[in-house]
Amino acid sequence: MKIPFVDLNAQYHSIQKEINQTITKVLSETAFIGGTYVKEFEENFAGYIGVKHCIGCANGTDALQIAMKSLYIGKDDEVIVPANSFIATSEAVTAISAKVVFADVDKNKFTLDIKKLEEKITPKTKAIIAVHLYGMPAEMDEILFLAKKHKLYVIEDAAQAHGALYKGKNIGTLGDLACFSFYPGKNLGAYGDAGAIVTNNPDLAQFCRKYANHGRISKYDHDMEGVNSRLDGLQAAILNVKLKYLHAWTEKRIQNANYYKRKLNADKYGYTLVPENVKHVYHLFVVQVANRKKVLENLASKEIAAGIHYPIALPLLKAYSHLDHKRSDFPNSSFLMDRVLSLPLYPELTASQMDYVIEYLEKYS
Ligand SMILES: *Cc1c(COP(=O)(O)O)cnc(C)c1O
Repeated sequence: MKIPFVDLNAQYHSIQKEINQTITKVLSETAFIGGTYVKEFEENFAGYIGVKHCIGCANGTDALQIAMKSLYIGKDDEVIVPANSFIATSEAVTAISAKVVFADVDKNKFTLDIKKLEEKITPKTKAIIAVHLYGMPAEMDEILFLAKKHKLYVIEDAAQAHGALYKGKNIGTLGDLACFSFYPGKNLGAYGDAGAIVTNNPDLAQFCRKYANHGRISKYDHDMEGVNSRLDGLQAAILNVKLKYLHAWTEKRIQNANYYKRKLNADKYGYTLVPENVKHVYHLFVVQVANRKKVLENLASKEIAAGIHYPIALPLLKAYSHLDHKRSDFPNSSFLMDRVLSLPLYPELTASQMDYVIEYLEKYS
């Protein structure tokens, strides 16, 4: 049985008619940049997250940069990011000329380890980027407590966590700003690149909107230099259609993750145990295995596509070799990078497909 890692085709087929009609409509109206579809999506997504402002932009990486710009973070400022994330999180910090400071993650939750985080705070620290990795909310109470104590901003990297809840509160409403990605494979995915910044702060929202559109206040009047990072009309219209299904898709993801969990031993496979009042939205279902290379090879021989998120902890990437970090600086992230394995998980996955994955995972691990 061939099991892909994600099945974007199955999802497209389930809403094909509606999507195709929408695309045709946008083309016939030539609503390519800005316009009603973008506005509509921004309003709908703000409503979905429960925030006052949503600013669409070109992708999730830009969203992070624009959010930090709105806080006037830049040269000589330090921003703390988790050592286990996708490079976009740290890349955005460097892109706005600030200094990336990595902090280790918790071995069981995969998100920022609060003790390690506090050790990294210096007088130069300006912000913490809390990544809700794999769809699991970071420990926001503790992060917000530290931020308040040290007068730091908190930016949520919610690129993998659309619709997640932390102690009953929506992810995306807890930091000063939150950033989303709508990369096709994300829980809410466009058919190209797209992203958004959300916030309840009107001044930050106004800055982000202006900065993302050339610092423009009217067509050829510019308050400042900005960037060109706009959500386009086609992607916005597609996202508007898909947003209606996001809740149902998320519930299917959770059901499927729970299916894996019922059948796979928690101690053996080291997946995250989710507290009662937290909603993990399972962008990824990540287990830990000691003999990963062998397991991956064997799964591949059965046409089961698994992934690794991420095979090299950020501080140990060649991109950051100038920081001279060693594995022992980030023991948990270093431990995890050799062991994590992401199993296929998406709303359309069936029980028999999961049984097949489980059968061969258990056989080889
Ligand atoms: C995908 C992702 C991003 C970046 O989003 P893009 O839209 O691909 O630029 C940032 N952070 C995390 C954790 C991500 O998974």
